Amino acid sequence: MGPHHPECPERLAAIADRLIASGLDAYLEHHVAPAATREQIARVHGTRYIDDVEAASPESGLAYLDPDTALNPHTLDAARHAAGAVVKAVDLAMAGACKTAFCAVRPPGHHAERGRAMGFCIYNSIAIGARHACAAHGLERVAIVDFDVHHGNGTEDIFTGDPHVLMVSTFQYPLYPYSGLDNPSPLMVNVPLAPGSGGAEFRAAVADRWLPALADYKPQLILISAGFDAHREDPLANLKLTEADYAWVTRELLQVAREHAEGRMVSSLEGGYALSALGRSVTEHVRELVTG
Ligand SMILES: [Zn+2]
Repeated sequence: MGPHHPECPERLAAIADRLIASGLDAYLEHHVAPAATREQIARVHGTRYIDDVEAASPESGLAYLDPDTALNPHTLDAARHAAGAVVKAVDLAMAGACKTAFCAVRPPGHHAERGRAMGFCIYNSIAIGARHACAAHGLERVAIVDFDVHHGNGTEDIFTGDPHVLMVSTFQYPLYPYSGLDNPSPLMVNVPLAPGSGGAEFRAAVADRWLPALADYKPQLILISAGFDAHREDPLANLKLTEADYAWVTRELLQVAREHAEGRMVSSLEGGYALSALGRSVTEHVRELVTG
């Protein structure tokens, strides 16, 4: 996204470092993410949008798709692999090879709408994974859980009116992208949290709004848009979650996955910009995924 930008390569290094330092890394199975194919991306994004993004990809320097969203010569390739990571993780989960997975990917995806790049996001990776689960594995009910501090407007845009996907989310409001106050369909459960909210408010939202909706829907697979920018140390927002809250919500979701989805749960990185807090939070999230 350019120099001195919070969405920086060091984010993935912070995650890798902390997983290694915690000793958890030795218990993980690592997979290299393939690039998503055009066919897989086109299940979510219009072909005109895909063509426009490809045409905008620069040979040097930065090309801006939106005031917040730039491409350098390598961004498009990274975005294809970020989406491909979720696709591969879905394949592994459906095969039973890895029931749970975490995709350590950049750029993030949940602000990318069907035909619009936004908020550091080019392709909506979690959405591409959800459509792949339905198209390639015949699933009829996929749940997308989004606990990034920003509303996943892109995911909402893509799945409004789609009976095969339930989306449940929490996010700070007011905050970018200033959407999410309405629930455009019964399968969109948006829970805005006021600035300053912490673990108590978050856990109440999950227990009172998400878990009943998930229990009703009985998802065959759970996908997580895992942003860690609701952490109290994050510089981009004003919620006060801690590592313990991320561990707790992961355990709650795993229980739903075990009950309805044969334990299948795939999580993909969205935001999270305080490097130390990001590394610690992902480690606690992955620790639960491993034991789940
Ligand atoms: Zn975010």
